[in-house]
Parts: sequence; structure tokens; C-alpha cells
Amino acid sequence: MSWSQQLLHYQNEIRLTAFFAILAIMGGWEQIAPRRALMLSKVVRWSNNLGIVFLNSLLLRLLLPTTAVALATLCSEQGWGLLNQMQMPLLVASLVTIVAMDMVVYLQHVMMHAIPLLWRLHRVHHADLDYDVTTGARFHPIEILLSMLIKFATIILLGPPAVAVLLFEVILNATAMFNHANIGLPLALDRWLRRLLVTPDMHRVHHSTEDDEANSNFGFSLPWWDYIFGTYRSEPRLGQQGMQIGIHRYRDPQQVNQLPGMLWLPFIGRVSEYAINRRQWQRDESKQPPPSEE
Ligand SMILES: [Zn+2]
Ligand SMILES: [Zn+2]
Repeated sequence: MSWSQQLLHYQNEIRLTAFFAILAIMGGWEQIAPRRALMLSKVVRWSNNLGIVFLNSLLLRLLLPTTAVALATLCSEQGWGLLNQMQMPLLVASLVTIVAMDMVVYLQHVMMHAIPLLWRLHRVHHADLDYDVTTGARFHPIEILLSMLIKFATIILLGPPAVAVLLFEVILNATAMFNHANIGLPLALDRWLRRLLVTPDMHRVHHSTEDDEANSNFGFSLPWWDYIFGTYRSEPRLGQQGMQIGIHRYRDPQQVNQLPGMLWLPFIGRVSEYAINRRQWQRDESKQPPPSEE
């Protein structure tokens, strides 16, 4: 077996080992040197956030007929997709895959914030009152299914090597857990690392209750898309310690940090102000717009 076949053969072991190893490393780091004091009990948050992760992986297995890696294998057998029509070394095709799929994740994330219906789903990720390694994995099941369908469409168009899809999924999972961790790197290291990778201080800005800050730093792995598309913000106005995490309107832990409330969150309340077509402008600049509801 070639190394790429070996990787594919052990993909479940690789995924699980990477998930639990990074959860343990980041969880330990947060315990020893937390960036911010947490508001809620870790036992409650972790059991509910990891509960939704477990539910999501179960649902993906039950509801979808295939996986991203299996679909990429089918595409290469059939010659479907751009990269399957071109001759290039596996390493180059893998780099193109990782960068291209990461850009799709960035664009999808911007869309989740802009479109009212999709923001309802994505609110579940943002409503966590604290920010730590488990926040990085908490998404509403419908958002997870939608992400997977977007990923399938990307694979059919791009025709990436199956092993590159596996690497992309493991890297995205690892970087999401890293950059949601309640840790801080030394400032100089953080600034240097931001050329290559989204750091915890960079992504934390995206979890601010301030609308303009939440509409910044959409990247999950590579920070370049925020620089290129103009959505980058280096720090929150109140600083990493003073900023408030979550969504203005949804501050009840029973609702936003308990599994039933999290699952029900997309179906309640109005979406106003925050989504792209609900913002109000007033020509008279002396008048302030009404305060945002979320
Ligand atoms: Zn977001
Ligand atoms: Zn996030």
C-alpha cells in the first residue's frame, strides 16, 4: 500500500486520535493558563457541547449516503472534477485542495452570517456564553448537514485527491479546536502565526457580542481570506479580557448552553438588524439607528 492508501485505510483512527489528542492538549492548556475567566461550569458546558458533537456525527452517518472521502474516491475513478482532468503531482493537487476547500469554508461562513435564515442556524455556534475548545465543535445539526452538502458539491466540481480531503478535514477540525481554545499565545508569536494560521485571539474577536466585531475574522484555518476580502480585525475594542462573548439577546444559560435549548434556538425569535438586509440606515446622521437586537 502507498502512504496515501495507508492514510485512507486508517482514516477513522486518524480522525479520532487527532480529535481526542487536540481536545486533551487544549483542555489541559486552558486549565493551566486560561485566557479569560469562564462564566459557566465547565462540566455543564462540555457535556452539552460534546453532546451536540456526538449527535451530529451520528446524524451524518444515518442521513447521508456517503462521506466526503468516499465521494472524492468516486470522482477520481470517474474522472469528474477539475483536478481529475489535469496532470499534477499529488503534493501539488493536495495543496490546491486544502487552500480551495478552506476558501469555500470561509465563503460559506460569511453567508451564514449574512442571510437571515442561515444566521438562525449559525447562532447556535455563537450563542455559547463562554469560548473554549468545545465551542469550536458546537454547530446545529442542520448547519452540519448543510456544510456537508456544500463540501460534496465542492468535491464534485474540484475533483480533489481523496487523501487531500481527509487531510483537509483533519486539519480543519484541529485548527478549529485550537483557535477556539481559551488560551493566549505570547503577543509576538500570535502576530507572527497570524500570517499562516488563525490564532485563538484572532478568532475570539468573531465571537464578540458587538455586531461589527462578529462580522470579522470569518476564517477557520487560513487567515488569508480575511486579509484579502477585507474582513480582518486585529483586536476587539474592549480587549480580549473586556470583550463580551455570545449574542446580545440570548444570555440565558438554560437556553444557550443546554442541549434542548441549543437545538431549538434556530426556531425562535426574530432576526433583525444583524443580517445583511435587515440593517437600517438613516440619511439624517444626527439620528442614531435603533440598537441591534442581537
Ligand atoms: Zn460565525
Ligand atoms: Zn467560531
